[in-house]
Amino acid sequence: MKTKRLYKTGRIAIACMIFVMSFAFIPANAVSGETEEAALVVGIPVDRCPIFYEDPVTGEAVGIGVDLMRSAAQEAGFTPVFRPIGEETLKEALDHPEYDVIMPFGSDIPSASGKPSIVSDNLMQTPFTLVTEGSRILPPLNHLHVGMLASQAGVAETVRESYPGVEISLYETMPDCVRALRSGGVDALLYNSYVWNYVLQKPSYGDLVVQPSAMFSMDFRAGTLNTPEGQAVIERLNQGIAALTEHQRQAIILDYTSRKLYRYDFSDYLYQYRLILLAGLIIIALVIVIAVQRVRSEQKLHEQTIQQMMDKDPLTGLLSMNGFRKRVEELLRAHPDTPYFLSYNNIRDFKYINDSLGRDAGNALLKFWAEKSLENLSEEEAIARVDADHFAVLRLITVDEQMREDERNVFLPIQNFFINQGIETRVQICSGIYVLTPKDFKEIDVDHMLDLARVAEKRIRDSRKGAFQFYNPEQWKKGKRIAEIINYLPEAISSGDIRVWYQPQVDYEKGQIIGAEALCRWDHTKLGWLYPFDFIATLEEAGLIFDLDCFVWETVCKDLHRWNASGNRRSVSVNVSRDDIRKDYDIAEHFYRLIQTYDLAPDQLHIEITETAYVENSEILIDATERLRAMGFLVEMDDFGSGYSSLHMLKEVPVDRIKLDLHFLTSSGDAEKSRTIVSCMVQMIRMLGMEMIAEGVETAEQAAFLKDKGCFEMQGYYFYKPMPVEEFEKIKTGDPIDIH
Ligand code: C2E
Ligand code: MG
Ligand code: MG
Repeated sequence: MKTKRLYKTGRIAIACMIFVMSFAFIPANAVSGETEEAALVVGIPVDRCPIFYEDPVTGEAVGIGVDLMRSAAQEAGFTPVFRPIGEETLKEALDHPEYDVIMPFGSDIPSASGKPSIVSDNLMQTPFTLVTEGSRILPPLNHLHVGMLASQAGVAETVRESYPGVEISLYETMPDCVRALRSGGVDALLYNSYVWNYVLQKPSYGDLVVQPSAMFSMDFRAGTLNTPEGQAVIERLNQGIAALTEHQRQAIILDYTSRKLYRYDFSDYLYQYRLILLAGLIIIALVIVIAVQRVRSEQKLHEQTIQQMMDKDPLTGLLSMNGFRKRVEELLRAHPDTPYFLSYNNIRDFKYINDSLGRDAGNALLKFWAEKSLENLSEEEAIARVDADHFAVLRLITVDEQMREDERNVFLPIQNFFINQGIETRVQICSGIYVLTPKDFKEIDVDHMLDLARVAEKRIRDSRKGAFQFYNPEQWKKGKRIAEIINYLPEAISSGDIRVWYQPQVDYEKGQIIGAEALCRWDHTKLGWLYPFDFIATLEEAGLIFDLDCFVWETVCKDLHRWNASGNRRSVSVNVSRDDIRKDYDIAEHFYRLIQTYDLAPDQLHIEITETAYVENSEILIDATERLRAMGFLVEMDDFGSGYSSLHMLKEVPVDRIKLDLHFLTSSGDAEKSRTIVSCMVQMIRMLGMEMIAEGVETAEQAAFLKDKGCFEMQGYYFYKPMPVEEFEKIKTGDPIDIH
């Protein structure tokens, strides 16, 4: 206790003593002198509303405990001063001389330093209640594991004394307590009921349930160290406590418990309105998503519109050059085996129409053209206005008469557009046609194709001929033929329309048949009999020759196998296209597999490789030739004399036999000179020690000449023409030559 002593003058001191002595009960620790109410410093915790807490407005300590103590202290003649304790526990606060008394205590527990304490009479019975997560039936308290606040260590000690079996865990904060309860760390939480009344107002603790059955009471006392001074204070305080009526106590308790003291903090608001917040957030998120999507789709639409504007011609609604390019690429990719042509169309003297009849009339004509063309186009075709009066059309090649039909259905009405309106102006159209080749489908270059069509169109325009001379018939025919050959090949191979014919080869000196060359023929469903000249180059261009050759080679091997089996051993020369000899086709391996399959000797196959192939692709060819020969095949250089580097090649290429092409050597120029050339060539080949055969021998004179010069092996119409296999089978190797 801090007693204020006034040391005044002696006169005043005496007066004071007289005054003090006039009272019957003077507190033992009161100092004689002029009476002043003694201040009583009460140490209290402030973390347990509504017992002890700080008023949020004034910052003063308030609460049930404060009011009760104030009333009791005042009754005892003290002026109470409430001071929040800075120590962790009440026990520690007991050791602190700053406080006269500390509260609340249930009983006189020793201080933290072990000094004995003394407590006042009971200020009130404090109900203590257990709280659980959800309602549940609890065993008696002495079988429970309960959680309490660490600041309630004193109470915990009292509880342990009263309920020996109870297990108590202390936690620093109420959220820690609740977390322990929710996680099953403790069975229940124990706390002052009045404080529960406050704590459970927190929205997020809505799942915590007070267990009324488990209620018990604790005393609520003030305590201090058990010293003479302490005893005096407690004694005097007890007088004040005794003076408190039950009414006063109840009024104070009711005052605090009936008030809504709990103040929401931010987290409480968050919890309380979580659903609304969540809904709000979802709505906001949705609004954002919808807005973003809308902006995106608008952007896309905008881009599409711009794209469409770029791809479309605003006047006629047809494709623009840009759109046409895209559409043609699409169509050619989707229909790679379909015959198409591309036309470039132009109105002759359109400027004159515009100038004389007006722009509107010109525009009307362009629109009419668009209309008429669209009427005649299918889904797989495309039309564009690529420039003022220039139209580009991608059209399927269907019937032979297609151009005439287009003329009738589209061009004639356009031509008569003004005449039908009574205006004496005939519209003239120039049209250039480009028929697509297989290469155009592989490397699609719309601009290039259009350029070619434009060249044709310009030719028509420059010729100033009639408007209907609008396509290049040669190119048209060629295109159609290409389409017919390429598209029909797979079917022709499988259905047997491709046949292998044989042309016998002879030794003229011995007068015997020595072998044959296999030559293919095509009995085309639509085009009739076709000779290699009609389709080999086209198939080479389309990259399909290997398919045909594989078929021919296999057919020859089958025939050889059959002849071997019937005791008619023969050897046959087969042709190899320059296109078959590439890095990725291993023809040596291919032939080797064939003779294995059909059980043939390799020298039964003579592989003819044309001389020009050696010139174009010498490295790969020399390599292939060496591999073939190493396997036992005989390799022949075909068409010798038709190429450019014949003499040089003879030195470089390791072939077994040279096939002199008499046709190339003798068909033109001075006959005498031709003979000299042939004679020299034969002589040279002989001097090089190589074998040779002359092909294209048509007359007895040619045969005699060759024989005379030392070339004995021959092949030609003079002896035999290529014949179907059935006919060839009648002839045997070694048979005498039958010259008709
Ligand atoms: P090639 O290999 O030089 O074949 C000889 C060609 O000359 C054959 O023409 C044959 O019919 C023809 N011929 C034979 N004797 C005479 C004659 O006395 N006078 C004339 N004017 N011609 C004669 P064909 O069968 O039309 O073959 C032409 C070319 O087509 C062949 O020339 C060959 O390069 C190629 N060929 C033929 N069949 C195939 C094949 O299955 N695959 C490949 N890749 N090419 C082949
Ligand atoms: Mg040949
Ligand atoms: Mg030849």
